[in-house]
Amino acid sequence: MTINKTDNGARLANTILFPVVGLVLLAIAFSVALIAYTSRSADHAAMESERQLLRGSTQLQLEILAKEQEGAAVWDLADYYTRPLSASTQWLDANLGRWLYTNHGHDQTVVVGETGEPIYNALRGQQLSPDASRELISSIWPLIARTRAKFITRFRPLPSGLFVIERPLNGFTRSIHETGFALHEGELAFVSVTAISPELKQFVANRRPPAVLVSVKKLEGSRLSALETRSGVDGLSASPGADRPGATATFDLRSPLGMPIGYLTWTANKPGTKILSGVGPMLFFLAATIAGLTSVVLFYTRQNTRRLAESEARAQHAALHDSLTGLANRDFFADRFHDELTRWDADKGLIGVIYIDLDHFKDINDTLGHAAGDEVIREAARRLRVLVPDEATLARISGDEFALLLPGYASRTAIEHVLRRIQDRFAIPMYISGTHLHVSLSVGAAIAPEDSLSMGELLRKADIALYSAKGAGRGRWAFFDESMEEHVRTRENLAHALREAIGQDRLTVVYQPQTTIDGATVLSVEALLRWTDPKMGPVSPSVFVPIAEEIGLINELGLYVLRKACQDAAAWPHLGLAVNVSPSQFRHPRFIDDLRETLKACEFEPTRLEIEVTETVFADNDSNILSTLKQVQEMGIRVALDDFGVGYSSLSYLRRFPFDTLKIDRSFIADLEVAPHAHSILSTIIDLGEALGMKVVAEGIETRQQAAILQRTNCDRLQGFYLSRPVPPDSVPATEARLAADREPSAAISLSA
Ligand code: C2E
Ligand code: CA
Ligand code: CA
Repeated sequence: MTINKTDNGARLANTILFPVVGLVLLAIAFSVALIAYTSRSADHAAMESERQLLRGSTQLQLEILAKEQEGAAVWDLADYYTRPLSASTQWLDANLGRWLYTNHGHDQTVVVGETGEPIYNALRGQQLSPDASRELISSIWPLIARTRAKFITRFRPLPSGLFVIERPLNGFTRSIHETGFALHEGELAFVSVTAISPELKQFVANRRPPAVLVSVKKLEGSRLSALETRSGVDGLSASPGADRPGATATFDLRSPLGMPIGYLTWTANKPGTKILSGVGPMLFFLAATIAGLTSVVLFYTRQNTRRLAESEARAQHAALHDSLTGLANRDFFADRFHDELTRWDADKGLIGVIYIDLDHFKDINDTLGHAAGDEVIREAARRLRVLVPDEATLARISGDEFALLLPGYASRTAIEHVLRRIQDRFAIPMYISGTHLHVSLSVGAAIAPEDSLSMGELLRKADIALYSAKGAGRGRWAFFDESMEEHVRTRENLAHALREAIGQDRLTVVYQPQTTIDGATVLSVEALLRWTDPKMGPVSPSVFVPIAEEIGLINELGLYVLRKACQDAAAWPHLGLAVNVSPSQFRHPRFIDDLRETLKACEFEPTRLEIEVTETVFADNDSNILSTLKQVQEMGIRVALDDFGVGYSSLSYLRRFPFDTLKIDRSFIADLEVAPHAHSILSTIIDLGEALGMKVVAEGIETRQQAAILQRTNCDRLQGFYLSRPVPPDSVPATEARLAADREPSAAISLSA
């Protein structure tokens, strides 16, 4: 199972980073918009001022046109020749039409009489029929009408009933005029209308409308460029028509009637755009830099948060996994277990809770070293992982202990099937540190809901089952059952009491003699541990010694016996001393050193000592065992093979290692009086020991008959209740004396008889 913390990290990064990036982008966009807006406003303002200038300039041009008319219109003769009674087209043609064309380039000259009817018309100096000007007249009629009206309003009544007219005295022109725009031959043109009047400043006259001079000057060529120069705009052009182009700078022209007739266009001076195009690249560069920097920051921040998230995930993984094997650890296992139990209901099937323990792992660690021990754990984890189904949780919960959770199983048999596969796989030796190791497993299982639905209970029961599997001889599995409870309880109590007894030095050692074959001379004594618990009474070493092995007390216990025995045996220096050494104690890496140090401390002669080992020390097929045995012998200590004949068998050890003594198991002796072939089997074993150069001891001699039978064999020594029960150290000399006394001829005879 992987815990995906990286996702959370990325999500976190996104919730922080994206708003920041968004803000930066927004700020950039806002700045760009602001700059664009400012430049457009600047452009707009500039265009407006250009339009203003253009307006002024066209006005000036119109005034100039009016001024040009003035010389012809404010003239006594003109006044005279336009009056209805004295009107003369010839005079007008010669003095107005042609003169205005040649001197001022007026394109059209029209004179409208007092009645409002055209009386003279000339196109570029060429006289035309006045009627041909009607279209023009009607298009500019408001100008004409206003000029006539202005003129009439100048008349002031005199008391005589006559009127006096006064010329305007200030201003650019002295004339009464109106100006505007018109279309002339399809092109835009300036128009000026001036009232024709006498030159006098003031004269008395009848109140009447004036004749007016109409002058038209097309807006083209030099006039357009003069306007351009005057207004200071570039690329000025005039276009007739009402539809003006949208985007360009324009100045609308309207006819006096208010109709749009055309427009002026020019190349607007756009300062904003200019500035923008000047700073634009810079702005772009700036924005690109900011965007780039933001991306870099974004990238690194994202990377860092990802790294952070990854290391967090690693930390979380480390918190939930075992570093040696990468399996789940105890906490993770507990979590999963808890989840499974909470989710459990009847149709989810059974949950198997399995404890797996490597047999003799401590010995592996002690003899091959921690590196090899770790390798064994790793290899065990690898094997288990392959065998365990997907939905299961496998965890390493302590040194050599694994736990397995098997959810959703239909039956106990299905769970058993998994356990069998695991055991089968471990039948194959591991190759560790250059040697093949047989590592077996003990497995204990509890099942939910049968055994319980509480995590604590299930684990406890799986542990009890494991304990029981180990007790039954390791390399096997056991399912929890109620009968185990009691057993465990007593075992636990025993272990507790034993620990206490050792701590308080409440154990004692008794000694059982080994005698010559005639039973008269004691040659040595075997030290046997005794423990009497205040509550439980005497507890047999065959019960508490295995417990001491299991709870790791055996080395301490072994050294305790050895020390005590050496001290006690100082009182009978002529006797040998046999001490039992359990397999675990024997395999302990400090065994040789401890042995040497204890003998030295008690000043005990090593040649007096014999250690008794059973063939179970060879169970692991470990080459170190032989070398330890040799080291013991090299110290001068003898080695006895205890309980020979029971267990696996036997003869191969005798060939592989030169034991000094062979102790025939007491079951052979007990058989003597009941089993028909026991006799010959016993003789064969004894002969075999003799042949291999070993001393042969028969133990468990309980009767005179048994002793008599052995006296007829090649057996070397006897040991058993018949000769003496194990006795406290003080009683050893007395026992010796008793047995010697029995050597009296009568007794000896009675024995052999
Ligand atoms: P073992 O090494 O075979 O010790 C001999 C056992 O046989 C002793 O039992 C002894 O009391 C008993 N025995 C002696 N003669 C007779 C007899 O004629 N008939 C019968 N039925 N039994 C006889 P014990 O003292 O109860 O010891 C049992 C086992 O406990 C020993 O078997 C030995 O394996 C272990 N043990 C005893 N003391 C120690 C010790 O100090 N260290 C270690 N490692 N193991 C010990
Ligand atoms: Ca023994
Ligand atoms: Ca024995």
